[in-house]
Amino acid sequence: MTSTPSPTRRQFVGTLAAGAAALALAPSSTRAAAAGAPPLPTKKLGVALVGLGGYAIGQLAPALQRTQHCRLIGAATRDPGNKGRQMAQAFGFPEKNIYAYDKIATMRDNPDIDIIYVVTPNSLHRQDVLAAAQAGKHVITEKPMGVSVADCDAMIKACRDAGVQLGLGYRNNFDPYFQEMMRIARWQEFGALKAMSGEFSGDINAAGSWRTQKALAGGGPVMDLGVYVIHASILAAAGESPVAVTAKATVNRPQIYADVEEIMEFTLEFANGAKCEGFTSYGGPKPGGGGANRFHADYERGFVDFPQAFNYNGTHAMTSRGLLSFPNVADQNDNTYQQARQLDDFARCVRDNVPTSVPGEMGRQDMTVVEAIYASAKDGGKRTLVKA
Ligand code: NAD
Repeated sequence: MTSTPSPTRRQFVGTLAAGAAALALAPSSTRAAAAGAPPLPTKKLGVALVGLGGYAIGQLAPALQRTQHCRLIGAATRDPGNKGRQMAQAFGFPEKNIYAYDKIATMRDNPDIDIIYVVTPNSLHRQDVLAAAQAGKHVITEKPMGVSVADCDAMIKACRDAGVQLGLGYRNNFDPYFQEMMRIARWQEFGALKAMSGEFSGDINAAGSWRTQKALAGGGPVMDLGVYVIHASILAAAGESPVAVTAKATVNRPQIYADVEEIMEFTLEFANGAKCEGFTSYGGPKPGGGGANRFHADYERGFVDFPQAFNYNGTHAMTSRGLLSFPNVADQNDNTYQQARQLDDFARCVRDNVPTSVPGEMGRQDMTVVEAIYASAKDGGKRTLVKA
């Protein structure tokens, strides 16, 4: 029989510290398991997708075929008879689990459904989340959480009153590259934050999309893409909100952008003086900029740089120590891997009864910045943010 040498105290403390650090950053559900939670039952939780558009069909439904702790079991759609039925056939769930939007609250009587995932246009998130809470189901809503801080407050209250969890579709928080930045920020490994810059831009050149209608989108690219830059800057600042915001909106194609901004440039100022220079556009990338999809954070003694930050896969990042690589994340080139990790984490949180690491309060925090950006863009003046 071989005996294992006992570790020195230093090794033991080192291991403990590394374990504690890993645990503090681990998805919420892992923390509960390590805290001695009972073994998990094997049943996969049932997820109903509310809204069967591009993201629900292209990313979330395929991700739900790869998840270990939840599965696609139902849907709500404008078109239950055709689209709903086709989804049920394609993804193998019963037709009885297809609902019209105005019947979401009646999911209360359906024990197949544990989690409702809201993937409708931004201004509809509020009413759909409130209906989900009325159904007594746990709920995830897509970003942006709503189109105002008042929306976020209403959703948080409704879910709290109903005793259900409210989570955000913040897939980047489950990407190992982002988790490494969060770890570096949390433990101040490179010292204090000094400066950040980020851009997420696309090109929408067709009038008529709900994304260019204020009533449905709440705004232009800030609501859709800019929110990723805002969220990343808060993660790089270890969860701190900016204290002041300045912004400038531009429209180059008024025939398309009569209702919302086409481009927004914004500066976020943090309490220690660090700034984030942000850019988001529906008119293509910033001319002469560093890429349409990037994020960079400078700290006192190092940096984190994402030349590819916000795509569904192929995240590419380095720090001042070198290129980041996660060979153990075997599926990182699949364009639904972030969503599968996000969904599984939420399902485990629900099942273990521990709070999600991406709660409604996090969506609200980002929305306070979004509101300040729009307020500043009206006159170019600086807006200060008050701590909630
Ligand atoms: P989409 O246009 O492809 O789909 C929208 C869905 O909402 C459609 O099924 C449509 O029928 C339905 N809908 C219900 N009421 C509607 C109305 N009054 N007008 C228009 N459509 C209506 O949009 P999408 O790209 O799937 O985006 C949906 C949500 O998901 C948005 O909030 C968006 O920000 C979010 N999203 C998140 C990510 C991410 O990476 N997390 C990616 C894409 C979209």
